[in-house]
Amino acid sequence: MTIDIEFKPDFVSWRTEARRLLLAETPPEDISWVPAGEEQGRLLFGAGASADGHGQVGASTEIAKAGPATRVPRAFMEAAELAAVHREPRRWQVLYRILWRLSHGEPHLLDIEVDDDVLLLRRMAKAVGRDIHKMHAFVRFRKVMGTNPDAPEDPVYVAWHCPDHAIFRLAVPFFVRRFRSMTFSILTPDGSAFWDKKRLEYGPGVPEGMAPRLDDDLEALWCSYYGAIFNPARIKIKAMKREMPVRHWRTLPETALIGELLAGSDARVAQMMKDQPKSASAFVPKQAAELAELKIAAAVCAGCSLCHTATNAVFGKGPANARIVIVGEQPGDQEDLLAEPFVGPAGKVLNEALAAAGIRRDDVYVTNAVKHFKHKKVGLQRLHQKPEAREVAACRPWLAAELQLIKPEIVVCLGATAALSVLGRMIRLADERGRWLSSSWSKRTLVTNHPAAILRMMDKDQQAAAMAQFVAELGMVTGVGHQR
Ligand code: SF4
Repeated sequence: MTIDIEFKPDFVSWRTEARRLLLAETPPEDISWVPAGEEQGRLLFGAGASADGHGQVGASTEIAKAGPATRVPRAFMEAAELAAVHREPRRWQVLYRILWRLSHGEPHLLDIEVDDDVLLLRRMAKAVGRDIHKMHAFVRFRKVMGTNPDAPEDPVYVAWHCPDHAIFRLAVPFFVRRFRSMTFSILTPDGSAFWDKKRLEYGPGVPEGMAPRLDDDLEALWCSYYGAIFNPARIKIKAMKREMPVRHWRTLPETALIGELLAGSDARVAQMMKDQPKSASAFVPKQAAELAELKIAAAVCAGCSLCHTATNAVFGKGPANARIVIVGEQPGDQEDLLAEPFVGPAGKVLNEALAAAGIRRDDVYVTNAVKHFKHKKVGLQRLHQKPEAREVAACRPWLAAELQLIKPEIVVCLGATAALSVLGRMIRLADERGRWLSSSWSKRTLVTNHPAAILRMMDKDQQAAAMAQFVAELGMVTGVGHQR
């Protein structure tokens, strides 16, 4: 006789039930998993909830922590968490069967790649991972004004997306990390999310027909950029359909242009050969009223060739009314992957130095002279390469647009590349660091070392002295440091 286990079809509820059943020694063949409120893998209703922007389904080690007889490999919990949002109706049964086998004499089951259960688990986890990646790539926000009752002047960005699997909660935290300074809603048939720059609220799903018709300023902007960057010399229709599946085209405004762009591709190839973009200026919105708009536009900049090898354009981050803007050289490996400035090792050094100088990182706007990561691949590593002067010049319109909007009192250049972009001339760091200079953006412009240069120093004493000098020069900003 089988027992019906009715449960809320999410990973945390399944894990709770699975743990209970495992402790009661209930074999998989005695159980029928009955997900409540689910039809063909799609939730018929969705409950609201909230999080701080890092909302994740539960920690994957909890089964292991929960009871003495329930230790399972972390790799299983990670794959199970992904498989749980696949629309395969057998997933709960398969997950419990694997869990049972792992804890009943087959601890190395996951190593048997030809095992039917393991195979299905892997396939589901992979498909879900791909679907999350597609959602990150294909969500397109549209701007709507006046919908936020607490801040009617504040635009809200809204996106509708229809994922293949119920990946919504796994995919949303990425958007919070990436667009933390924007107010936005993401609507999907499985659930909706609202981020107000502080808090993430989850709500019920929205069928496509109910998705609001929106003001299309941003959409038109995006289409014009897509048209500008569309490269007919590199068209591979099959690869394009694989990377941008046709089922997502209806929510991507730029796809309406594809037919037209393909039709004129020969002429465009010839034209592109003639006028390769040499600067970001063609991509910078002429009358951008806010940094978020610039950030979205920079994401598709092709003002120089660096966009072809980097993962993300890394735009500046910080308050729009910051008193201090700190300009670095370019994003590093981690910044490129996370699309945020100064979050890697150099960012840690900068944070330490700022704290020591009495400056709160949250109070400053941090950006780079060049927005895409220049690197060369050596094996699996991506090694930093210094941007050339022409790349700094090509990217300068973005920095100019950021500084134009922020109008800071003080600009701090970290290293000679940042100084080149801000001051418009080459400098010798040793000659000009640590004293107030004047630039088009501020009469109080300061040049100091780049934290990555301090990190690269091999001699510990030399490194400590360089750090002390860096802190002292940053301290000039608060008036507590020295001035040469
Ligand atoms: S580095 Fe700057 S100019 Fe070059 S593509 Fe990236 S954003 Fe555009």
